[in-house]
Amino acid sequence: MKNVIYMDNNATTQVAEEVIEAMLPYLRDKYGNPSSMHTFGGQVGKQVKQARQQVAALLGSEPDEIMFTSCGTESDNTAIKGVLSSYPNRRKVVTTRVEHPAVLTTCRDLERHGYSISEIGVDGQGRLDIDELGFRLDDNTAMVSVMWANNETGSIFPVEQIAELAKARGIVFHTDGVQAVGKIPINLKESSVDLLSLSGHKLHAPKGVGVLYVRRGTRLGTFIHGGHQESGRRGGTENVPGIIALGRACELAMQNMAEENTRIKALRDKLEKGILSSCPDCFVNGDTENRLPNTANISFEFIEGESVLMLLDQFGICASSGSACTSGALEPSHVLRAMGVPFTAAHGSIRFSLSRYNTEEEIDFVIEKMPAIVDRLRELSPFVKTQ
Ligand code: PLP
Repeated sequence: MKNVIYMDNNATTQVAEEVIEAMLPYLRDKYGNPSSMHTFGGQVGKQVKQARQQVAALLGSEPDEIMFTSCGTESDNTAIKGVLSSYPNRRKVVTTRVEHPAVLTTCRDLERHGYSISEIGVDGQGRLDIDELGFRLDDNTAMVSVMWANNETGSIFPVEQIAELAKARGIVFHTDGVQAVGKIPINLKESSVDLLSLSGHKLHAPKGVGVLYVRRGTRLGTFIHGGHQESGRRGGTENVPGIIALGRACELAMQNMAEENTRIKALRDKLEKGILSSCPDCFVNGDTENRLPNTANISFEFIEGESVLMLLDQFGICASSGSACTSGALEPSHVLRAMGVPFTAAHGSIRFSLSRYNTEEEIDFVIEKMPAIVDRLRELSPFVKTQ
């Protein structure tokens, strides 16, 4: 078995070997600037064009609707601030309470600058109330931003349905697709999604490259001013090796998604069943009907997620917890809190997120180690139930 059992793929993924191979020439010999007039640069430009086509193919979009950025966070910021600057008379954004901070903190900053932000809640399984969302749309609403899949629980939102609602009111619809792209099929041609963010490092490309899909005709102000790159929509010399890598990663995702998803989902289900049957007082968080195939978010009552992580780490097992360190104190995840998960259970939540590189042997190893870890921590826990 490998030294590291990596089950934290919603945080970041291993760069695929095929992707490294594809990008290496652009770090070594093919270092031309894609905007240069000479053939040396022009050849690089052609490959960037091909990568744009590869990304577009995965999304079911046109290549000219793909704008390369540096990461998912930049794509989210560009979408939100770019739309608001194009609709100066509309001052409201409708979003959800469970977005990634790339959207939530951007919106909260806008609130400080006089915008109105409407955050829709979720139920105990992390599902959105679509009717409530519909009620919040009004003539002052510039845009709706709802993530396609949640990074913590894997819950998938009906974004195509929400995009229709927004379209009917003439409102721009953005989705943070960072966790969805490469994990579930997406066909933007068949949808009313206007803007979609994705991030290379979540689908086996390296960090430092992302995309904002911009449907033709969508009004979007420029966020990063500079040169004429990306059809004048985003200044800055392109991250060529990253873009080539992302193109190849999208191609691989497209080729293998159906088969990989079946295998990854079977591993995730085995992991979940194995843990639930051997550890008492634990449960799965999220919408188990509509969920990414790779994500398992499990709450262990009476213990802290961080302690579980530390003990898992001793076996080389990488996962993540549902708490975030805010101003020096551990705060339970805003996503689990929005779902109404009790404080102690939210504190004791662990997210395992799998990828094509996980094996059944690794799943068995984690299932074998978990009961002793949980027992050991519960023995020390001040919260544990007395029998
Ligand atoms: N949106 C979601 C749903 C994410 O999970 C992440 C990263 O975890 C981001 C946005 C930010 O992406 P990046 O790390 O590329 O900035």
